[in-house]
Amino acid sequence: AAAGAPQYLNGLNPEQREAVETLDGPVLVLAGAGTGKTRVLTTRIAHILSQGRARPQEILSVTFTNKAAREMKLRLGQMLGQAVEGMPWLGTFHSIGGRILRIHAELVQLKSNFTVLDVDDQVRLLKQLLQAENIDDKRWPARMLAGLIDSWKNRGLSPSQVPAGEAASFGNGKGGKIYATYQERLKILNAADFGDLLLENIRLFRENPDVLRQYQNRFKFILVDEYQDTNVAQYLWLRLLSQAPSRPGRSLADVIPGDITSPAIPGRLEESNPESSGEADSSRDSGSALSAHPGMTEDAAAPLKNICCVGDDDQSIYGWRGAEVDNILRFDHDFPGAKVIRLERNYRSTGHILAAASHLIAHNEGRLGKTLRTEDVDGEKVTVTGSWDSEEEARAIGEELEELQRAGENLNDVAILVRASFQMREFEDRFVTLGLPYRVIGGPRFYERAEIRDALAYLRTINSPADDLAFERIVNVPKRGLGDATVQLLHDHARKRRIPLFEAARAVVETDELKPKARGSLRDLVMQFDRWRAQREVTSHTELAEIVLDESGYTEMWQKDRSADAAGRLDNLKELVRSMEEFENLQGFLEHISLVMDRDGEAGDEAVSLMTLHSAKGLEFDNVFLPGWEEGLFPSQRTLDEQGRAGLEEERRLAHVGLTRARRRAKIYFATNRRIHGTWSTTIPSRFLDELPAHNVEITESKGGSGWGGSGGYGASRFDNLESFGSSYSTPGWQRAQANRNRGGGGRSGGGFEERQSSFSSDNFNRTKRGPMVI
Ligand code: ATP
Ligand code: MG
Repeated sequence: AAAGAPQYLNGLNPEQREAVETLDGPVLVLAGAGTGKTRVLTTRIAHILSQGRARPQEILSVTFTNKAAREMKLRLGQMLGQAVEGMPWLGTFHSIGGRILRIHAELVQLKSNFTVLDVDDQVRLLKQLLQAENIDDKRWPARMLAGLIDSWKNRGLSPSQVPAGEAASFGNGKGGKIYATYQERLKILNAADFGDLLLENIRLFRENPDVLRQYQNRFKFILVDEYQDTNVAQYLWLRLLSQAPSRPGRSLADVIPGDITSPAIPGRLEESNPESSGEADSSRDSGSALSAHPGMTEDAAAPLKNICCVGDDDQSIYGWRGAEVDNILRFDHDFPGAKVIRLERNYRSTGHILAAASHLIAHNEGRLGKTLRTEDVDGEKVTVTGSWDSEEEARAIGEELEELQRAGENLNDVAILVRASFQMREFEDRFVTLGLPYRVIGGPRFYERAEIRDALAYLRTINSPADDLAFERIVNVPKRGLGDATVQLLHDHARKRRIPLFEAARAVVETDELKPKARGSLRDLVMQFDRWRAQREVTSHTELAEIVLDESGYTEMWQKDRSADAAGRLDNLKELVRSMEEFENLQGFLEHISLVMDRDGEAGDEAVSLMTLHSAKGLEFDNVFLPGWEEGLFPSQRTLDEQGRAGLEEERRLAHVGLTRARRRAKIYFATNRRIHGTWSTTIPSRFLDELPAHNVEITESKGGSGWGGSGGYGASRFDNLESFGSSYSTPGWQRAQANRNRGGGGRSGGGFEERQSSFSSDNFNRTKRGPMVI
């Protein structure tokens, strides 16, 4: 039969092929990591095009990142043997939603050139609104409200749909009202925030059935990758588009199908999986747009589109951002008659890696459960390496990278995946020292993060009063009532007299050109800098940095900030101070920074990839390094505290995602000591290590230097202990013994577990500053 089959179908296994060739009706591919889900989607597009079933502009295809969209286009070109013209609707939910919104902007009271606000703009606007309502920004931070609004938008809730209790939970009952005013103000400013790109799009469709119909007509095929991580808003948007176009004149209720108020349904998916619990994480998010529209009824008359979603419940890692793994579990309920296809062969990883990952994820209860097999060789075992501290960890990985390089491996096929962004700092410094090219994916490099740049700006201003850029950056951060007008005045002075901004400030406070309040505030700042410069002579540069961050109110600004990324920023600041210890003085440190900032890890060059586990979704590398597998850091204590058991399972899925990125080698690391708040704390190896199957794991000695705690002993004892993997979730005996030993022996330990567990973790996943959006 294959005789006349197109080239691109060659090599697909029967199940993959079925998923590609079943073009009519809804299809769900529910399958594990590396089984070719993304490949199926790409091939399916090629098939649709080459069969002439639709033109490129008639296919809606949603990927998780813009990068993934570009890659898909590239592969598509390769499959079809020619560059694909168009595919304008291949992109992320937000880029496609934004695109549609621009076309019909006036229908949602915007103009087509509307601005997309970043988080900082959003917060600034909310601050104004809070002020107007006489709500104390200290007690009710604008950032917290921004986070709330974001989560409402993720759940598809417009101001009128937010449950009353929640709306009242902020700002003495005024949260909901301010959300409404905020939406009105955005319209006046001709602006949309990130969440609006979808939410306003949904409103557009709901209020304008003719527009919706136009898109339902246009999109002959819909394809969605990483379906397990869609949130409610994305789900609603898809539901609207996935209906076959309705006849004009029907009401909205006809257009929105399905009883989507019912809880996750154990359906056919479950029956074929006796081992699954069927319990889809019920602790999550109960109020949502789903329950806000109880009137929706099944509309049997409107057949469903040719929609194909692919996903893996074991890789759902965005629950903290409103993703609903339920969406995938209820697919065949939402799309009646859906064909559910399972893929069981993993084409990515070698045997040991796949076995380790499968064994680990089997500790989760809330999952469908699935079989994964590989026909690849066993390959190398997953290695687990203990280091004395995080510095040694970075050194060890640096050496391994050099070894790989010497062995002729391509650095593009190497990734380091961290749990929290602050972990990157040590690696970046190490790589700069080694001259090893690297790139940071999915976020800024450590020293380019906003909070780090702010802190550096303070230090630069102390070091060099003529550094105008630095001074201007922080003159009003945190807010001191020194706004644009003041800065303008300083600039005028500086220009006229040809003096630095800082000296202009010193001069201006002696005049009456500023209003008394601004003048007092500027005088205080000038005096503070004078004092810090004097202190520089008598204290260490690290101490000085701590004093500056403290006295300037900068640390406090983030402490009061209750947005999701604030804690991560505080961790980054601590990490910055810690990194200074490696230098003799402030001058030396700042020189190092300018070197780090200067180097360009240009894309296209061969370079190691550094990123968070969250950013690594969907990607694959020959060699994957997984540092920082310690209790508190991974699993993240914060997640455990906030979400309990569900949080632990999400962390475990994250570990599973990390391991399954590896094609040939997966290398896990943990450090026995990490410095927190400037004091050493002994750490406990992650419980996830305990959940790895001994047979597929090898304990190795750190190549980073001293090794920790003397010669050998560790390796042997760990082997014995790994035999007991999976026995319990509490601290296993060997870990406790190990930790005690380190505690007693090191002499550098302090702080202890308790402090560590409550203070040390981070969830900084690049949520802010999405940068200018390209839509
Ligand atoms: P993830 O869940 O991590 O996103 P996935 O299911 O999307 O994984 P893909 O990235 O599509 O998996 O595929 C994993 C690897 O296996 C890719 O390198 C892909 O090219 C390869 N692959 C998939 N199917 C086949 C096949 N039939 N023959 C050979 N290689 C395949
Ligand atoms: Mg994929």
